[in-house]
Amino acid sequence: MSEPTDNPVRLRHVLSQLPDYVPGKPAAAPAGVTAYKLSSNENPYGPLPSVLSAIEQGATTVNRYPDMAVTALTERLSTALDVPPECLAFGTGSVAVLAQIVAAACDEGDEVVFAWRSFEAYPIVTQLAGAKPVMVGLDEQQRHRLDAMAAAVNDRTRVVLVCTPNNPTGPCVHTSELTRFLDRVPDDVIVVVDEAYVEFVRDPDAVKGLELWREHPNVVVLRTFSKAYGLAGLRVGYAVAHPPVAAALRKTATPFGVSSIAQVAAIASLDAFAELNDRVESLVAERDRVTQALDDQGWKLPASDANFVFFPLGTESADFARACEEAGIMVRRYGDDGVRVTIGETEGNSRLLEVAESFGAR
Ligand SMILES: *Cc1c(COP(=O)(O)O)cnc(C)c1O
Repeated sequence: MSEPTDNPVRLRHVLSQLPDYVPGKPAAAPAGVTAYKLSSNENPYGPLPSVLSAIEQGATTVNRYPDMAVTALTERLSTALDVPPECLAFGTGSVAVLAQIVAAACDEGDEVVFAWRSFEAYPIVTQLAGAKPVMVGLDEQQRHRLDAMAAAVNDRTRVVLVCTPNNPTGPCVHTSELTRFLDRVPDDVIVVVDEAYVEFVRDPDAVKGLELWREHPNVVVLRTFSKAYGLAGLRVGYAVAHPPVAAALRKTATPFGVSSIAQVAAIASLDAFAELNDRVESLVAERDRVTQALDDQGWKLPASDANFVFFPLGTESADFARACEEAGIMVRRYGDDGVRVTIGETEGNSRLLEVAESFGAR
């Protein structure tokens, strides 16, 4: 192979401007210390026996293409959510569905408005589609400023992304805020409510995406099986959208993207909802234990309705991330904005509390 610099192939200029997606670091720890991977908001619990057996069963037909129409999962989810089947569209994770939305809505130079910091895939999918990201800073409590976001909408805006709870900072958007926002934004602009962590939400004022979707033809709800359902490795997510939008998302999907194994595992997970929900309840209880303990230590952190906590440490972020990693906890640092730590196994969470205590509350 010759040196990459000798290669004359022409690639799109935009690629040189895109940050690489930073995956959570794999678990690694000093000798004799158990490592915990708390860097990717994954579910610490392995697959349920019933889900594992669906996966094994699904594996016997991998010589065939999957059902491109995702028929059985569509029917199962349609019943579970009380949403017509034609309003569901699937993709290889909700990140892929997000890219399908932007590809379906944006021509070159159109604008996508979202809060910042928020999910790091947002600027990447926007720029890959040739669209322009318009990023509106969070407030001091690390929450969306929806009035400022409404003011940023103009006649080039095609999509607004609302992440609730916000990854990586934690707070959810309230129904009153998003209702007022939807009243202000033209109804030909798609408003995506990204509910990747919806199962962990306990704030009674939190947005309920499906209710707003029923009332607004321009609302799209994004959900995933990666977080609460513990299927991050299988790549399956979906949108709830009104029929013309859902049809556009099917057109912009990778053909046969969602594997047959992912489809059957998602169905088995919906069937095992009660068991999975017990795990979600345990994780929520762990989140509450961690946030209460950090509060008692004197930390002033943003509220979290998700399966992670955020330490907005500014220029001390690198020191805190290093302290965590020396203690065997892999965390996700966002430059000089802060450090996000996933709620995982009880021992890992307790280890975080020890590190936070000796670092000293901010
Ligand atoms: C994790 C996450 C997703 C979805 O991830 P997939 O694994 O692609 O389904 C979407 N949005 C946000 C905000 C997330 O944190």
